[in-house]
Amino acid sequence: MASFPLLFELGATRPTTRGVADAVKRGGTAALTEAEARADQARYQEVTCRSALNRVEGMPFSWTLNPYRGCTHGCHYCFARRYHVQFEMNADDEFASVILVKHNMVDVLRRELDRPSWTRELVAVGTATDPYQPIEGHYKLTRQAIQMLSRGRTPISIVTKGPMVVRDIDVLQEQSRAAGCTICMSVPTVDEDAWRLLEPGTAHPLQRLRAVRELVDSGINAGVLMAPIVPGFSSSRTKLERTIKAIADHGARFLGCNVMYLQDGTRTHFMKFIERDFPSMAPRFEKLYARKYPPDAYRKDVQGMVKVLQARYGLGRRERGNETPDEAATLQEPEQVGFAF
Ligand code: SF4
Repeated sequence: MASFPLLFELGATRPTTRGVADAVKRGGTAALTEAEARADQARYQEVTCRSALNRVEGMPFSWTLNPYRGCTHGCHYCFARRYHVQFEMNADDEFASVILVKHNMVDVLRRELDRPSWTRELVAVGTATDPYQPIEGHYKLTRQAIQMLSRGRTPISIVTKGPMVVRDIDVLQEQSRAAGCTICMSVPTVDEDAWRLLEPGTAHPLQRLRAVRELVDSGINAGVLMAPIVPGFSSSRTKLERTIKAIADHGARFLGCNVMYLQDGTRTHFMKFIERDFPSMAPRFEKLYARKYPPDAYRKDVQGMVKVLQARYGLGRRERGNETPDEAATLQEPEQVGFAF
C-alpha cells in the first residue's frame, strides 16, 4: 500500500492561557497533566502565547513583556498574586507553585519587532512577575528576549529580585549600547526578619545588592526599588536607614520607593498571612488598609523619611519614566517626616 506524507504535522502542542484557565476551571490544577514538576516543588506548564509585547495605557512606558506568569519567589505582598485568578488559580499557594511558561515567546517577539509599524518605544520587562525567578536558569526566555530587543534597537527597563540578572551582563551591555537599558533591583529592606517572613523564595537582600554593584561596575544603569515598604515590617526609621545605607554602599545609581498597597486577591492572601502568623497586627492592618492604599499622610510620611535618608547617603532619586504600573501608581513626591507603624 502506498504511504502518503502527513498533510499536517501538529507536533507537541501547548495550550494557550485561555486553554489553561478552561482546564483548571473544569478539573483544578490537577488537570494540568503536562505541567512538569521540578525539584523546587513547583509545577511548570508551558503555554503558547499569541503576543509577547502587551500594550498598556496611562503608564510612563507603552509596552510590557513577561515571560512567566506566577512566581516562585512567593512574596506575601505581591501585587501580581491577584492576576493568577485570570487563570482560574488562587492567589495563595498556586500563585507560587504553578508557573506558566510562554515557551514560544521569543519567536513571537521576533515577529512583532520586525513589523514595519514597530516604533521602538520603551518596553518594561517583568511588570507582572519576576523575569529572573529560578526557572529562567532553565528556559533563558528573558535572556533571549533581551537579545531580540537589542537587535530591534528597543529600549528596556527590567524589574527583578533575581541576582541571576548578572548572568546576562554581556547581553545587557549590548542592549545598553544598542538602545538603552535600566535595571531596577527590588530590595524593599535589608532587615533579615522582614525578608524571611515576607519574601520566602527570594535571594538574600545583600546578594541582590551585590548584583547591583556588579551591574554598575559593568557599566549598566542599575539601581534599587525599595518596593514595597511594608508597614510594621520594614517601615521603621532604623530599618529604612540601614537599607538606604546598604543601597548607597553598593553603588546603586538611583533609588525609588513605594508603600505596599493591597487589592483583590493580594489583599485576601496578605490578610490571611497576617491573621495566621501575626494576629495581633491584624486590627492595625485592617485600619491602615481600609482602602487599597494607606492614607496619603502615611505614604507621604514614609516617602519623606526616605527622601531625607537619600540625601544623607547621597543617593539620587529615580528618574521618572520607567516605573512598573505598580510603582507609577504609587510614586509621589514626599512632603513630610515622622511616622509610626
Ligand atoms: S519577586 Fe516580584 S513578582 Fe515575584 S512574588 Fe515577589 S513581588 Fe511578586
